[in-house]
Amino acid sequence: MTDVFTPEGLPDRIRHYIDGESVDSLDGDTFEVLNPATNETYVHAAAGKRADIDRAVAAARRAFTEGPWPRMLPRERSRVLHTIADLVESRDARLAELESFDSGLPITQALGQARRAAENFRFFADLIVAQADDAFKVPGRQMNYVNRKPIGVAGLITPWNTPFMLESWKLAPALATGNTVVLKPAEFTPLSASLWAGIFEEAGLPTGVFNLVNGLGEDAGDALVKHPDVPLISFTGESRTGQIIFGNAAPYLKGLSMELGGKSPAVVFADADLDVAIDACIFGVFSLNGERCTAGSRILVQREVYDEFVERYAAQAKRVKVGHPHDPATEVGALVHPEHYEKVMSYVELGKSEGRLVAGGGRPEGFATGNYVAPTVFADVAPDARIFQEEIFGPVVAITPFDTEEEALTLANDTKYGLAAYIWTNDLRRAHNFAQSVEAGMVWLNSNNVRDLRTPFGGVKASGLGHEGGYRSIDFYTDQQSVHITLGAPHNPTFGKR
Ligand code: NAD
Repeated sequence: MTDVFTPEGLPDRIRHYIDGESVDSLDGDTFEVLNPATNETYVHAAAGKRADIDRAVAAARRAFTEGPWPRMLPRERSRVLHTIADLVESRDARLAELESFDSGLPITQALGQARRAAENFRFFADLIVAQADDAFKVPGRQMNYVNRKPIGVAGLITPWNTPFMLESWKLAPALATGNTVVLKPAEFTPLSASLWAGIFEEAGLPTGVFNLVNGLGEDAGDALVKHPDVPLISFTGESRTGQIIFGNAAPYLKGLSMELGGKSPAVVFADADLDVAIDACIFGVFSLNGERCTAGSRILVQREVYDEFVERYAAQAKRVKVGHPHDPATEVGALVHPEHYEKVMSYVELGKSEGRLVAGGGRPEGFATGNYVAPTVFADVAPDARIFQEEIFGPVVAITPFDTEEEALTLANDTKYGLAAYIWTNDLRRAHNFAQSVEAGMVWLNSNNVRDLRTPFGGVKASGLGHEGGYRSIDFYTDQQSVHITLGAPHNPTFGKR
């Protein structure tokens, strides 16, 4: 497969979508969008600024205060969300093609992500109907119930890894609960986000409910965070950006949900099923090009099986197929952007002095252009090494030995992050004890990234603030007003009368 594949029917310009119209930036400014397989500019996208955000928020605000969407019955909104899911499913191949082209993700994995996006809409379409508001009654005395109300204009800010799916993860619950939205997608990958408008129009979402402003984080993203008419921000991205957003949202006391970076440990005990653990640890760090927030990018292996693990793991990493994103045989495609490629490559170089290189270590042979990195494995990495501590967000992994369960726990927790942890052992007691003590929002025991959509998703420490997923998403996107009624004798009827 050559590196010149270009999908048919690419747009001549990627525009904003505001109040039902596809529009350019008010100042006409644009930015370049690159094809990760060649680094050539394939399109220009409208570069939104404060004035464009103001327009989008005004449209979303109008749709919230005057439009039908927040006032519709959950069942009616649910029908629209199911239609959106149907439409996403019916064009999953096209979505995957565009997503893979724009982000460099292998086409087969982009297809899985497109289907997951449909699933997110279906899940929240069902949940919003099943949701029974809490009601508490003391017969003959009092009744309390909870009104769940949409909050208003939700600001959604998303990253470039699996962009369409991560957008669906915020759009589906925000819309299901009756909010209106302004989405600011990542500037490296604006292509798939531009498809939402057509899907939503076809599904019958009322005008103004969904608005999209492209642009740089420091312009469009910043303006969205600081807009006084946007009471909540759901953000997924780097921990450093999360800190900036946290500060900028503070004066407005906005609702915040933050899904941030990670450096998750995969802990392999000597009693684990090594074949399964190796397969899972390969997939866990090299799938999605290693550009996965929950990547198990620090592998901790018990000394008894350490040498065998490293040898077999390195051999398998060398067999992971790097290729053009559009090639169905590709397992690792092109990293999203030359800036990110340079960052990952600088860690690869650093790793050569911080660990023992046992696989990869640079650009794979046969790839003269594009952001290709060979799956790279460093063994014997010390816990104070930067490649052990810092999120690389590429196909690079650090392996470190440990002796005891206590040492494994200390190493697992020895990072500022706390997103995920993977534990491989056949000792149930140890697995559950470890899960209790490890500082991670999500733990997989002898398991790799499967997740029921009802469970919470999120991290602790520098990996996040709050959780989304299932009812947690419904909680985040609604105000929960409690209403109290006295049914029997009034309380304190003599107060002030004596
Ligand atoms: P990023 O923080 O650079 O950008 C994310 C988004 O924030 C982009 O849309 C960007 O334009 C915007 N942004 C940047 N500066 C801003 C500002 N000052 N104000 C408002 N918006 C701003 O992150 P990225 O490089 O796009 O994504 C990779 C990161 O995302 C990694 O750290 C990864 O771990 C994390 N991530 C986390 C999860 C999770 O669920 N925890 C999921 C996916 C990705």
